[in-house]
Formats: sequence, structure tokens, C-alpha cells
Amino acid sequence: MGENPHRSDTLLVIDEGTTSTRAMLFAADGTPIGQAQAPLTQHYPQAGYVEHDAEEIWQLTLNCAREMVARAGGAAHIRAIGITNQRETIVFWDRRTGKPLAPAIVWQDRRTADICARLKAEGHESLVQAKTGLLLDPYFSGSKIGWALAHWPQLRHAGEHLAVGTIESYLVYRLTGGAHVTDATNASRTALMAIGASGWDDGLLDLFDVPRAILPEIVDCAGPIAMTAPEWFGAPIAITGMAGDQQAATIGQGCLDLGQTKATYGTGAFVLTSTGRRLRHSQNRLLSTICWQIGGERHYALEGAVFVAGSLIQWLRDDMRMIARADESEPLARSVADNGGVYLVPALSGLGAPWWAPGARAAITGLSFATGRAHVIRAALEAMAHQTADLKAAFAADGADWNMLRVDGGMVANDWIAQDLADMLDIPVERPGFVETTAIGAAMLAAVGAGLYPGLVEAAAMRGKVEGFTPAMAPEARAKRLAGWGAAVRGVLGG
Ligand code: ADP
Repeated sequence: MGENPHRSDTLLVIDEGTTSTRAMLFAADGTPIGQAQAPLTQHYPQAGYVEHDAEEIWQLTLNCAREMVARAGGAAHIRAIGITNQRETIVFWDRRTGKPLAPAIVWQDRRTADICARLKAEGHESLVQAKTGLLLDPYFSGSKIGWALAHWPQLRHAGEHLAVGTIESYLVYRLTGGAHVTDATNASRTALMAIGASGWDDGLLDLFDVPRAILPEIVDCAGPIAMTAPEWFGAPIAITGMAGDQQAATIGQGCLDLGQTKATYGTGAFVLTSTGRRLRHSQNRLLSTICWQIGGERHYALEGAVFVAGSLIQWLRDDMRMIARADESEPLARSVADNGGVYLVPALSGLGAPWWAPGARAAITGLSFATGRAHVIRAALEAMAHQTADLKAAFAADGADWNMLRVDGGMVANDWIAQDLADMLDIPVERPGFVETTAIGAAMLAAVGAGLYPGLVEAAAMRGKVEGFTPAMAPEARAKRLAGWGAAVRGVLGG
């Protein structure tokens, strides 16, 4: 013990997701060493509402992190902490105690749909889009904070003791015992920050009725962010990396240069294309976002979100009972020569980018007596490449076309999907051997922040080995699929 000179270069990553909390240990070269995970309770108090208990998040984080600190042999063996988190979710707490004053309102929560619709009707969307790179949608934190201040009197009563922040901000507050900061990527998802300028924007604060005094200070994604209080891990540990989950995954996939793109296929699918130092505004309803900020210098990305990806497979499994396990979908899709003319548009909760049609509903088209279960399952898997192809067209129209796609997330364990993406997009697809790219990205930021690497380009070696999928589909077959999909989407959009 203690002989290995690299021992103290271990990095601890806290990955605070929507459905679970994880702590992971990495060696400085990116080798995963250990992991602790705990599921997080989801609260659905009424239709459209999704809440978390921030105290539960904190306790789970502390437990998982402590387990990993013990695994490392104590705090002295951990060089730095990196934090990555579900974005947009907003926490309200008392500065004196750090205790939450209200439920955390989760990114999926739609309670502010009316507020956003009103602001849109009043003509504010183009200004919001120009300033923030986002759209007027309940997804983002600003309207959620305004709603909470108007509806939860205990927040107003807390007066100057009220603090607000996204999940990483809350975790840092608790871990340090009082540092109130947020990193630039998380700040860029609140709709309260002008992403091309520094700090919170007075016009946006006014629009959403959010007082500046309750918000954290915006800081870099890598560097000496804060030190944990000694009481949690036996000795202080430096927090040196922080980014929202999709940005962390983009970094973890090594998408650092203009045009480099990653797609994560989990419950939903999130595609981010790096646009380098240049902030681009989408003409195609993609989002502009900060990909990272280091040394005050920002790198940007364009983002497209697909609401339904893996959740479609879950629905086919649990509600339609067409399969017993998600991975059965792969042999079933392979068991038929093609989709038999069946198309599935998975608009089970509306359509996301580039359509943004919240009222759209899903459809399965082209059914006949010749249609079997395998065709429907195949159509479901094909929908991933179809939705991604629509995004690719939008990115290309915005001047950020992809020449390769780096994939991750639970769905791309399915080789058929990975190959179908390569075939339909007609570009090579790359899948890392270690698919926890979000955690790797946070580890990369923490490593750079701790000075283990001079920059992200060097730290990208932590990504490790990758597997490639090469396009091998005839152009006519691709064109036929895209035409069939296009017709099915038009049906769903009602036009
Ligand atoms: P999240 O991080 O959003 O919770 P994950 O990245 O863990 O999601 O991915 C899980 C999703 O992937 C589930 O929705 C599941 O239905 C889907 N999934 C898992 N394995 C497969 C598979 N072999 N084929 C298709 N879908 C799969």
C-alpha cells in the first residue's frame, strides 16, 4: 500500500443522474477502478409534475462518495473530485443549514407550460433564443424558479437566506459547507444567462421574475473550484471539475473540435456537436449551449434532444408486452429481412428536435396481416436512426454537419442499432469500449482542473479503446427508408 506513485492521482466522479446517483473512481489514465450506485426516488405529485428530494440526493451522494473514498484508501489517495449532473433541475435551500426548502423541480416537469406559452404569445421567444440559445420551454430552469417563488411562500419567507441552484450547485454547497457556485454549462441551461456574455442577464431575470441575489456565482468547468469540508471524507478534497451530463458526455467522447458529434441513447437521446470557440445560433430549432468553460474561455455546442429513445423499448416491453427484455429486440430485428413497410414514429410524449411538436402523438403505420411482432420491433429500433437522420439534416442546415458519430448510452449496447445508425446516416459510427462517457468527461475535467493534464485534448486519452461501425447500406434502401419515415412523420404532424 502507498508504494504506487499514481495512487494519489485517483479521481472521484460524482454522477448525479435523473434516476440514480453514482460515485466512480478512475485512475489518472481513465481506467475505471470502482463504482457505487443508488436509485433515486421519483415523485409525481400530479400530471406533468416531476420532483426530487434534494436531501435524498445529498444523502445518496454522500454515501456513494464515502464508499469510493474508502475504496481508494482514504481522502489522501484522491487527487480531485469531478461532478456531473442531470441538467436544468432546480433546488431551493436555506443558506444557514443547507437544507432544501421545497421539492427540487426536475427538468422533465411541465408545470410552467402556461408561463412559457404566455411569454411566447407576448413575443419574447426570439429575444430568449438570441440571448440564451434556448427556446421558451418549461424544460429550462428560469420559468421553474419564477413559478416556485410565486407559489411556495416558504421561499419568500426565507428572504436573504434563500439560495437557488442546479444540482451540481447544491452538491458543492453541501460538500463545501457554503460555496455557492455553478459551472458555466449548467448556468447556460437556466435561460437566465446570456451565453455569449458573462454572468446572469438582468433582462432575463426580469422576464422570469428571478432575483439575482438568490443565484450562484458562475465559474469555470475545470480548475480549483472549491474544497470539500473535512467532515465528509476525513480530510478535504479539491473539487476541480464540473459540467452538466450531456456536456460531460461530449467531452468524454473527445468531441472537442468543430463538427465532432456525440449521441447518447438512453431514456431519451441527446446529440451534441462541438462548434468550438464560435457560438452559433440555430435556424432549425436546435439549441446552442456552452460545452465547457476553462480559464474563462468558452467552447460551444449545438444540441438536439429526442424525447423518446430507450423509453420506447421500455414501453414495448412493459405496456405492450411485445418483448420480455430490452435486448430481445436485437435478435427480433435481425429475424426479418426488412421492416415490411412498417414505420414507428415514437411521439409518445410529443416530438422533440427538430420538430418541437409537444402535442404530436405516436403512430405505427403500414400494418397488414403480413406484419409480425418482429416488424414492429424492427420499426422501433429503426426509429432511432430515423430520428437521428432528421437531426443530422438540421445540424447540416445550421452549418454543423457530422462526418462521424460517436455513440453511447444503454441502447447502443445493441449492435444492430449501432450498425443501422452507420447505414442510415452514411457515416462511420464509433462506440467506446467503456460507455460511461459522462463519468469519463467529468473525470477529464477534474484531471485538467487538478493539473494532471495541460488541457482536454491531452486528457481525451482517458476515453480508451473504441469500436467502429462502417456504413454498408445500398443508397436505394436508405432512400426508401427515409421516404417511408418522412411520410409517417408528416402523418403524425398532421400535414
Ligand atoms: P438512462 O441513462 O437514460 O437511464 P441508459 O443509458 O441506462 O438510460 O439506457 C437504458 C435504456 O436503453 C432503456 O430505456 C432500455 O429500454 C434501453 N436498452 C437497454 N438495452 C437495450 C438493447 N439491447 N436494445 C435496445 N434498447 C436497450
